[in-house]
Parts: sequence; structure tokens; C-alpha cells
Amino acid sequence: MSRTSRHIVIVGGGTAGSVLAARLSEAPGLSVTLLEAGPSDDIYDSSVLDPARAPDAWMGVAPIAITPMADPSGEIPMFQGRLLGGTSAVNGLATLRGLPEDYDAWAAAGLEGWGWNDVADTFIAAERDFDFGTSPIHGKSGPLPVRRWRRDEMSRAQLAFYDGMAETNMPTVADINDPSQLPGVGVFPVTIDTNGQRVTTSLAYLTPAVRARDNLEIRTEAEVSKLHVDGGRVTGVTLKSGDEIEADDVVVSAGAFWSPTLLMRSGIGPAGHLADHGITAHADLPVGETLSDHLGPGIRYGHDGPRGGSAGPAQVLLLGASNGRDVDYHAFPIGPAMTDGPTEFIMAVFLLRSSGQGSVRLGETADADPIVTAPPLVDDGIERLRHGFARLAAWEKSSPAKALGCAQLDPLDLQAPDAVSAALARFTVSYGHMTGTCPMGTVLDADCRVLGIDGLRVADASVMPTIPSGNTYLGCVMVAERVARKMIAELGHPA
Ligand SMILES: Cc1cc2nc3c(=O)[nH]c(=O)nc-3n(C[C@H](O)[C@H](O)[C@H](O)COP(=O)(O)OP(=O)(O)OC[C@H]3O[C@@H](n4cnc5c(N)ncnc54)[C@H](O)[C@@H]3O)c2cc1C
Repeated sequence: MSRTSRHIVIVGGGTAGSVLAARLSEAPGLSVTLLEAGPSDDIYDSSVLDPARAPDAWMGVAPIAITPMADPSGEIPMFQGRLLGGTSAVNGLATLRGLPEDYDAWAAAGLEGWGWNDVADTFIAAERDFDFGTSPIHGKSGPLPVRRWRRDEMSRAQLAFYDGMAETNMPTVADINDPSQLPGVGVFPVTIDTNGQRVTTSLAYLTPAVRARDNLEIRTEAEVSKLHVDGGRVTGVTLKSGDEIEADDVVVSAGAFWSPTLLMRSGIGPAGHLADHGITAHADLPVGETLSDHLGPGIRYGHDGPRGGSAGPAQVLLLGASNGRDVDYHAFPIGPAMTDGPTEFIMAVFLLRSSGQGSVRLGETADADPIVTAPPLVDDGIERLRHGFARLAAWEKSSPAKALGCAQLDPLDLQAPDAVSAALARFTVSYGHMTGTCPMGTVLDADCRVLGIDGLRVADASVMPTIPSGNTYLGCVMVAERVARKMIAELGHPA
């Protein structure tokens, strides 16, 4: 690879990192090294590619490397994918954008270029929507294939949820990425190809032609242990193997847990916390202090057998609005999965607009997992989840739910005043939407540059200043696309 050009190192070949590597290497004046801690995507087998097997990965039984995380009580499992493609190789494949007001709030907070009118085109350009590609709010020629589950692919539990919710007078929504159609019950758009296989961002963006570029090197099993910072400028990285790589610019895309910990280990973070670990601060910034996620109770259900076909873990979704207007919770059956029997499923109700924030801090030693404190569920959130429980109670009485014999396995009166707290105490689930640990505004500027350190950027879920009201993977793609575009413009090497 030519090193006469400006050399950019990307740390983390996950959801965002794969997109960045593909886009930055489009610029002939740049040379790009992508460093991924986990294995290459040539290890993908049916446990990755078959959407129905996604829950195997969540449960840690699939033969792929994932990094289990937990809050201090160990009760809320959280993890990220650790392989080329990152969490896009283990997630639930749901392809949602969030709501326009989420991004308008970013712009209103002073982050120029991140309002809905700025980012909508990026979402549209990323997708190749087989169902709505000709609609002005969708794209038909982007790298990510998108379609919605068909009824014949759904499990009986998923169908009973969709039909039962419709019977309770919830509007059915054809396109849940169209805010004008919400709230209601609809079918998840998913990133799968015409063969029904998962398409990760490494498959979609790092195509064989991209991988063959002279100015792109992809190294897997290449975990970065530290960034080099000299005189307020990043100059390269050290790998766990001891190798050192010089760089003109570094983009950290290691995800919401590992991006903040890499910055902290490199002297970028809260000075007091770094001092406790004997690390001198190059920049005193609130790294890791504002972890957001969508959390909520999971309720165990069973139904009469057999389960019927199920091509995916989550297929139908209630986008609920506790005030009747603004979508502020999601409810859906997960599975059959995460349970013991083939006809069991988890009904999850996730709070979307939570103000609670957790944190990510360094573990005792450099090699130890970070200490993650889950975001607390605050009181107004409990009130909104109660609205979701009322919807579930109505659904339990619907004829599709009754016809299938859907019943809670540890019965709880969903209408009881303390039902939400009781359900949370039994089983709190993370939607996997960990974000905000290196946010724009306090750690990064609006171009995702680390404040006070030249040449260093972050681009992944950690940059989101507030969590979108939807699933976060597509948001990471959007962030990566926009950061790549800004970098190419700034570094003076247009594609
Ligand atoms: C169980 C689960 C289900 C989910 N389901 C959905 C869903 O259905 N829809 C949706 O939109 N979102 C979903 N999400 C969330 C979504 O997938 C993530 O928000 C998104 O993929 C995160 O992308 P990222 O680029 O921030 O990080 P990742 O995709 O996790 O990438 C980070 C990469 O960095 C690598 N890395 C870490 N440290 C280092 C290091 N030191 N050196 C080198 N490499 C390193 C990792 O190995 C990884 O490949 C889910 C998440 C989980 C956990």
C-alpha cells in the first residue's frame, strides 16, 4: 500500500468502521488501514448469516466472538460483536432510522449539520429498499438491501402479536420508517439479501472490489491497545501484539464500550478517573460519562404448539405513544428465543426517550473489561411503560392471542399499579442500543473531532449526543457516511 498519501488508521472494523474504510478509500489521495480486534468475516457461517439464529449469538452459544458485558449487579447482559462487521453481525437486523425530532434536537443543541433535513438524504442513500425503493423517503440503489418480513416467514407468536394488536384498534403501519404513519403496529424492515441472509456492513460496503483497492489495508485479529498522542496531536497506534503503526489521522470506531475505554487508556478522559489509574491526561473530557440505552422489562410468555416458521428473532413491532402522538416506546415479541422451549417468547417493552444515563469506566487493570453502569430508568419512564403494559393487557384478551393460547409463564397483573417495577425487577432487558459515551458537544465537535487533540476522531454509536427513538445500527451507518464525507472534504482529497 502506498504511504506517500495521507494515512488514516481506523480502529474497529464494526458497523461504522466498515463503512468508513470503504468510503475513505474512495479518495485516491488517502491511504487507509482498518484494524479490527476480532476475526475476519470469512468465518461467517449460518450462525451469523441466518437471521433466525441471531438469538444464538445473543445467548453466547454461537461460534462467534462476542464480548459479554454487565452492569455491576450483573443483571443486564450487554455486548457488542467482536469480528469484522461488528455488532451488525450479531444484531436483530431491524433497520430503523429513529424520528426526525431526534436529529433536530442534535442540531438545536448546536451540532450543525445533524438536523433531520441534513441527515435524511444519508439514510435514503444508504438503502436499497426492495419494498418502497421508489418512494421519495426511501432509496433504491444504496449498499444496504432492505425488506420487510413476509407473513409466511413469521412465527405464530409474531403473527398473533400483529393481528392481536390490530384487533385492539392499533393502526397497522405499512412503513414504520415513515413518521407520518405512526404510532401503530408494523413489520420490521431488515437488512437481508434476496436469499434471506443477513448482510453486515462489512459485506455491504467492503465488497471484493473495495478490498482489492491499493490504498486500503484490512487487518483482523489486530486489537489496538493505545493511541499515541504527542504535543496535542495523534500520531499513531500501538497494537496489543506490540506493533506500532504511524498515522496522520485516526478514527476510533470501536463501539460504545471500547471507543471510550481506548480514549481513556490513551489519556483522553476525565482527569480524576485517569489519575486513579496512573494515566496522565492529554485532554480532560467527560468520556464515558453519558451512556444511554433503551431498557425495559421482558415478560416470559408461552403458547400452544407448534411454533410455526420463524425467519427472524423480531419481526413485528408496536411503536407506542403514551400521549397518543409521539412514539416513546417499542413493544414486541422476541423469539421464540432466549427461553427454554420452542413455543416460549419474551415480550419486551422498551422505553425510547429515557433521560437516565449510565457510564463506562476503566476496569482495574488495562486488560480488564470496563465497568459499565446501566442507565437508570427514571420515574416518568415508568409511567410511559405503564401505557405499554395497558396495550399488552388488551392484546392478551384479543382473539389471535387467545387462539394461540398465549399466556404469561410467571403471571403478572399487567394493570396493577406496581406491575412495571415488578416486571423490571424480574427481568430487565437491554435493546442493545448503547450510545453516547463520546458524545458530540462535550467530547467531540460537530465534525466528530476529539476536542483538544488534532487528527483524532470518533465515529460510531458513541458519538450520539442523545439516543434516537429507534434502533441504532442504521444511525451508526449514517454517522460513518457523514464523517467520511466531512473528512474527505477537509483533507482536500475529493473522491
Ligand atoms: C443483541 C443486540 C441486538 C441489536 N439489534 C439491533 C437491531 O435489530 N437493529 C439496530 O438498528 N440495532 C441493533 N442493535 C444495536 C446496533 O447493532 C449497534 O448500535 C451498532 O451495530 C453499533 O455499531 P458500532 O459501529 O458503534 O460498533 P460495533 O459494530 O460494535 O463495532 C465496533 C468494532 O470495534 C472492534 N473493536 C473494539 N475494540 C477494538 C480495539 N481496541 N481495536 C480494534 N478493534 C476494536 C470490535 O471488535 C467491533 O468489531 C443491537 C445490538 C445488540 C447488542
